[in-house]
Amino acid sequence: MNIQMMYNTRMIGRPLTKIIATIGPTCDITGQIEKLILAGVSVFRFNLKHNTQEWHNERINRIREVSERINQPVAVLLDLQGPEIRIGSFVEGEIKIHTGEEIAFALNRQPGERTIVLDNLKLLRSLRPGQRVLIDDGFLQFEITHCKKDHVDARVVKGGIVSSHKGMNIPELSVELPVLVEKDLEHLDLAARNEVDFVALSFVRRAKDIELLRNEMQRRKLTAGIIAKIENQQALDNFVEILEIADGIMIARGDLGIEVEIFKLPFFQKEIIRKTREAGKPVITATQMLQSMVVQPIPTRAEVSDVANAIFDYTDAIMLSAETAHGEYPLESVQMMYAVAQFIENKRVALPANEDSPSMVEAVVVSAYKLYQTLLHQPMSSIEAFVVLTTSGKTARLLARLRPGIPIIAVTPSRSVRDQLLISHGIIPRIFSFPEGAIHSFRALFQSLTKQHLVKPGDNVIVLHGKGWKDTGKTNALSIETVNA
Ligand code: PEP
Repeated sequence: MNIQMMYNTRMIGRPLTKIIATIGPTCDITGQIEKLILAGVSVFRFNLKHNTQEWHNERINRIREVSERINQPVAVLLDLQGPEIRIGSFVEGEIKIHTGEEIAFALNRQPGERTIVLDNLKLLRSLRPGQRVLIDDGFLQFEITHCKKDHVDARVVKGGIVSSHKGMNIPELSVELPVLVEKDLEHLDLAARNEVDFVALSFVRRAKDIELLRNEMQRRKLTAGIIAKIENQQALDNFVEILEIADGIMIARGDLGIEVEIFKLPFFQKEIIRKTREAGKPVITATQMLQSMVVQPIPTRAEVSDVANAIFDYTDAIMLSAETAHGEYPLESVQMMYAVAQFIENKRVALPANEDSPSMVEAVVVSAYKLYQTLLHQPMSSIEAFVVLTTSGKTARLLARLRPGIPIIAVTPSRSVRDQLLISHGIIPRIFSFPEGAIHSFRALFQSLTKQHLVKPGDNVIVLHGKGWKDTGKTNALSIETVNA
């Protein structure tokens, strides 16, 4: 059986948790992209810290071409670099730093001292004695000892080999770095030209950062969803206001695990997943999920448990970074996530339906969920899926918030709405248009969904819709329908 066949017949049995793959040199050729999509990838992430605009542009086109050809929608997420700090270069490419030695941070090499070069004077001047500085995901640690006129001295708390351009974290940083760097603005032009589906903002500190990004996006007529990456204490402190304004959240555990004490990470992860789900917005659990699969064909027990626990907590999406971007086993990593998700999703405890439904749409959504739960105990009328007619995607997201254990087929006339729903838990978005006016029959819709192997004749589905088609925000009806051929 070829993969295409396998995929078509198993379409509706895919996990409800979405898989995001970061694109990179080990998975960027057309054949490999196709395999990853068929294996379960719904969203490709571009880490804009690496590679050129041309490189990204070409791969976005490749993904879109494959997605069209195999008739499988896939979303594109551009992850902006943001105000990340990187050290300068070493003549030798790398140096060995010894625990306990003194080292200088400076704009230029300091005569007679071993120096780590930084290119940001404001940042250098903001350093204070006692502050912690971490390099290369915290593998190297320093404590600032003296601040001089043109450089600062630091004691090496944990040494090792440090190579040019490694990332640097200063957890108690007091200086305000810009929200968007020059390169980000260029990448927004790229995002607009390609009408990408999501833009992720690194090191978000407060709601205003998102506002600034949204303004830049509006100037470019870019309607992508904004994903706020939570990766430091300030973002945790301001999480409520960030969640209010962002379209989705990424738990960027790589940096978050450096900026806050690492043993607190699982707690923050659980809290962020819960709060974001309750807000009806998508949440991505990211970084090192299957890290050992960068070099090994099977993950560690701890990694499998990590993926499983995020799924138990009902994360919308799980993300692969190095595993797919430059790992040796990109396809196996996706297959592993798929297998874990498919198994664990059937073991979860159903969430209670939210009783307070402030709007009519929410009341309809909660009623639909309760109807489904009631029918669960009546095998003769089991429900295979929800079908949600949605112009903005809102009704589908409100239903996904309750995490029913069956697919939510979201039907929309808009390509961008379809693709922005691809990241959300359990939503299978498809394009379909009804004639203007009141809806009298779902026959043509069911025929289309049957052709796409999403439903089959005889299936019972719960349909949520408005009286008329394109009545945004006016979902006021639900019905149980049996699919007829
Ligand atoms: C992270 O820090 O976990 C993350 C996803 O961000 P980046 O890969 O940009 O460091």
